[in-house]
Amino acid sequence: MYCPFCSFEETKVIDSRLSGEGQQVRRRRECLRCGERFTTFETAELVMPRVVKSDATREPFDEAKLRSGMVKALEKRPVAIEAIDAAVNHVCHKLRTLGEREVPARLIGELVMDELHQLDEVAYVRFASVYRSFQDVDAFREEIDKLRHRRPRSAEELQLGLWSGADAPLTVAPPPAGGNGTPGKK
Ligand SMILES: [Zn+2]
Repeated sequence: MYCPFCSFEETKVIDSRLSGEGQQVRRRRECLRCGERFTTFETAELVMPRVVKSDATREPFDEAKLRSGMVKALEKRPVAIEAIDAAVNHVCHKLRTLGEREVPARLIGELVMDELHQLDEVAYVRFASVYRSFQDVDAFREEIDKLRHRRPRSAEELQLGLWSGADAPLTVAPPPAGGNGTPGKK
């Protein structure tokens, strides 16, 4: 960084040590031009990014809101609260490790869907149907077909009343490469 006294761009580190119980690195620097000394502190930035909504307004990330959305989707489903906590933590961890200062709300929705897909397919479909606000029944059915292809047993579980054609031969594409084709854990 530039010298805060004369703005010269070269400074040398004359001392470096941990401080703040190892959460910070404290560096003593000396300007190579004016010779002034100053101290810098380096800490990891672990703040959550701000959320950019579809209308371009920004709001602070709200973990409680994230959790309540997932809990709502998982209402009356056989999923332990510990598993929900873990899923919330996964989403928060992914958001932090992105290192971005702002993320689109859409991305958070996608991360939540990834987690729900692992936890419970009914919850996944509930969330996805609201979140993606499917344009029409075909788009919704397409999503269901993808699930059925991944886990054929889920057909009865879903109970969505869309199964008039359940006995018809399925024409499903292979799951997307590198996608979430792994079976959810129980
Ligand atoms: Zn200087």
